Amino acid sequence: MRKKIIAANWKMHMTQTEAETFVSTFLREIGDPDEIEIVIVPPFTSIPKVSELLTQTQNVKVGAQNMHWERSGAFTGEVSPAMLRELFVRYVVLGHSERRALFGETDEMINRKVHAAYEAVLRPILCIGETLAQRERGEVEKVLSTQLRGSLAKVESKELLETVIAYEPVWAIGTGKTATAAQAQEAHAFVRQILREMSDEATAEKVRIQYGGSVKPDNARELLSQPDIDGALVGGASLDPRSFAQIVQAGVSKDS
Ligand code: PEP
Repeated sequence: MRKKIIAANWKMHMTQTEAETFVSTFLREIGDPDEIEIVIVPPFTSIPKVSELLTQTQNVKVGAQNMHWERSGAFTGEVSPAMLRELFVRYVVLGHSERRALFGETDEMINRKVHAAYEAVLRPILCIGETLAQRERGEVEKVLSTQLRGSLAKVESKELLETVIAYEPVWAIGTGKTATAAQAQEAHAFVRQILREMSDEATAEKVRIQYGGSVKPDNARELLSQPDIDGALVGGASLDPRSFAQIVQAGVSKDS
């Protein structure tokens, strides 16, 4: 059984003050449920506050949205893996489609970050996904396979077990268009097949694959009830503590 993992990607939203209000409301709504793992992924500046507020929780953890692969150096504006560890960060989102499209991140760069994450005992949430044009050209499998194999080059099975994959079709991110549960399940099953080819059956069965792309309280249950969907990476709907709590509840419920 794979424990579901639901993450809140706040992107460039939430000052420390707003984050504090969010976390207190969210914890009041949801508590610290054993059945599921929750990751709050604030912008860098709000990480210390969120970490401080989550020191008592076992199942609600802190993530970061990005990092550099080097340990230190002349990289103005960047943050290192060790800097995140010092703030009790456990997960790091890598290769988000916004980083790929707006900041020129390639699979090769993401692969360096993935290895730097393992070295710093951070767990990557690796984002992959096709654009609408790629889907229309029938290239979904080619794109997912290339991104997975490139971003996870030279990753060992034991490291793969520390990794979460987020399948996020680019056309569904922030657009209100969600992949149907069947489309998402098909892509997730394909991702697991590639993981099987890259490692082995037992490892591939244990790796958690999140779906991301306009997940909301009203579509979360159906998506999360698919056999290969092990959680969600939530953008817009994670900015409201009540709607994020409802999405988490959908993942906790017995029929999902
Ligand atoms: C995301 O940013 O990873 C995301 C899935 O955003 P949204 O839920 O707003 O589509």
